[in-house]
Amino acid sequence: MQLANPNLLKLQNYIGGEWCDGTSTIAVEDPASGELLAEVADGSAADAERAVAAATAAFPAWKQKTAGERASVLRRWHRLILDNADDLARILTLEQGKPLAEARGEILYGASYIEWYAEECRRAYGQTIPTHNPAMRLSTIRQPVGVVTCITPWNFPNAMITRKAAPALAAGCTVVIKPASETPLSALALCQLAEEAGLPAGTLNMVVASDAPAVGRVLTEDERVAKFTFTGSTAVGKLLMAQCASGVKKMSMELGGNAPFIVFDDADLDTAVASCIGTKMRNAGQTCVSTNRIYVHESVHDAFVEKLRGAIAELKIGHGCDEGVTVGPMIHRRAAERVNGLVQDAIAAGARVELGGDYLPEGENYFAPTLITGVTDEMRIAQEEIFGPLAPVQKFTDEDDVIRRANATPYGLAAYVMSENIRRANRVVEALDYGMVACNAGVFSTTVAPFGGCKESGIGREGGVEGMVEFYETKYCCFGV
Ligand code: ADP
Repeated sequence: MQLANPNLLKLQNYIGGEWCDGTSTIAVEDPASGELLAEVADGSAADAERAVAAATAAFPAWKQKTAGERASVLRRWHRLILDNADDLARILTLEQGKPLAEARGEILYGASYIEWYAEECRRAYGQTIPTHNPAMRLSTIRQPVGVVTCITPWNFPNAMITRKAAPALAAGCTVVIKPASETPLSALALCQLAEEAGLPAGTLNMVVASDAPAVGRVLTEDERVAKFTFTGSTAVGKLLMAQCASGVKKMSMELGGNAPFIVFDDADLDTAVASCIGTKMRNAGQTCVSTNRIYVHESVHDAFVEKLRGAIAELKIGHGCDEGVTVGPMIHRRAAERVNGLVQDAIAAGARVELGGDYLPEGENYFAPTLITGVTDEMRIAQEEIFGPLAPVQKFTDEDDVIRRANATPYGLAAYVMSENIRRANRVVEALDYGMVACNAGVFSTTVAPFGGCKESGIGREGGVEGMVEFYETKYCCFGV
């Protein structure tokens, strides 16, 4: 791998400030070509325990630092990430597949959490509370929860880590992370830069593991862990929540979605199509806020489909490092096969493929950006999280009915509304049972706003002020006078 800074290619786990081998290794492959990129140390449950021990040992000193001291280390980390953004983006594209421009965007987006929480931690204000009793004085203070453990996915190998680690570290917590084994290189490179930034040994630890359940048990059940935070599928999230229950761990869960994208007859269709492409095709549709069900008012259905077909046809598919590529491969063959299964199921149930609908010759993990019409709510493609570049379109006629259909899912992460009518836009945004709603926009996630879902899409928020509060305990102090 050609990097301007070869130090960023780390192949060992990072525990207590030491780079450690495992008993075996995990192969990391380029999903675009299948080429072996590196072999990374495979961590065990024992490694996870050592990491939790290191984080426990580092906690008292880290929490004692002033917010300003913690912030200055975090700001150095942020600076180093920016200085190495090109290399980090290249590592990310090679192991994950997204186009280089998108990968670079993720590095900057990921870094922005570190900068923002370095600022925000200085404002961990408590309260003085007007007393209920003249002989008592009441106040609150905010304190870091303690050791925080994280399990992160492969779709945003950088940002899903910084979104958790930055507020946790800023609050004064210490951290253990198990990144996805598909994308460990981006994760370990972040540790290298954290070390260079002067983060004390043990404050940030990372264990890559092929045996996720074994390491997951330690991260959710070890009695020294105060809080567990996870981004991944709803099925795994439920399992990990159950494990956290044994020790009443605090937890945050960013789980799956089934995002509706509603195009009303008063929508600006160009805005709607551009927004749809942004939410649907970014990262080859492999984001938890990717549009899953496109509902279009029957009077604009054909016009919208035509415009969307044109926009999809313009996408350039290929290796993420190649100039001009806008859609890369899917993460692995299994993911492509799942998407193909959804297409076949929809066809068998009467839907029509307007564009794409098959694997591509570029490589075994490539699936064509696909437009499907005639979809119904009963089809698997509308019920399940697609996590791939499929745009399934349905018709609707009535506002109340489309709201009901949009809400008829156990998920509640992101929803999209396209309308130029301010009254309707407000009504619909309020009526949707989702943690996040974007109106006339497709890509909305930002450091400064709370990201998260309701229903089976999760618990807690990441980003913004809400994302910081997750890592504090509020202590109520009562003084007799
Ligand atoms: P995805 O479809 O994005 O891979 P997963 O929920 O399977 O979603 O994976 C997200 C993260 O959860 C990854 O880091 C993965 O290794 C981890 N993971 C998967 N299964 C388990 C498990 N049983 N226990 C702990 N971690 C798990």
